Amino acid sequence: MNNQMLSLFSPSDSKLLTPYLKPAKFEQHHVLFEADQQIRHVYFPTGAVVSLVITLSTGETVEAAMVGSDGVVGASAALDGKVSLSRGIIQLGGDMIVCDIEAVKRAALQSPELLSLLIRHEQTVYAQAQQSAACFATHQVEARLCRWLLRARDLSESDNLPFTQEYLAEMLGVRRTSVTAVAQTLQEAGLIKYARGKIQIMNAKELQESACECYGSVKSLYQRLIGPIVQDK
Ligand SMILES: [Zn+2]
Repeated sequence: MNNQMLSLFSPSDSKLLTPYLKPAKFEQHHVLFEADQQIRHVYFPTGAVVSLVITLSTGETVEAAMVGSDGVVGASAALDGKVSLSRGIIQLGGDMIVCDIEAVKRAALQSPELLSLLIRHEQTVYAQAQQSAACFATHQVEARLCRWLLRARDLSESDNLPFTQEYLAEMLGVRRTSVTAVAQTLQEAGLIKYARGKIQIMNAKELQESACECYGSVKSLYQRLIGPIVQDK
């Protein structure tokens, strides 16, 4: 299955969960759950990318973490978290494998190996949120946007990303005018091409050089906790 977590399940854990796994398609911007809401399903993205965002009373939102085919959404709720800590929104439409939360909980209680994998994964989500807080406080918008685009590129496995400047501003928690200025600079430098809500990454290597350290930090932590991302899926 095209999800890193599912591919790491032992044969016996797979056997426990397979009857409950159902593929489904999700549209961009669909809200999976709101913060403080009870989560009923666990999602294993196989093409879709999910943003975990924090919403403020003013209506502003900021992204805390991004999960795609390298991870799972809702596992901490399955491990008895009961409610979601953030809003889960489909950032890039695509497929996910959906599993009943009680089935994941039962399987995790039966299998220390599965429990360990899910806990390690939740640590990577926590690490992303921590890194995002540090990033927001200290790094420039240009470096942050580069980091964000690289992560979206890794998870979507595509250089073409369907994001409006408004959406990018929302995810980064900055003004739209800041995103416009930075996108223009990156376009002039030949790193990206920008047109009508579509971003094309032209030079990923240079984009990486312009990104803040957070991109590499999160990636290497993931590899230490979970293992290298399976490239040939
Ligand atoms: Zn950063």
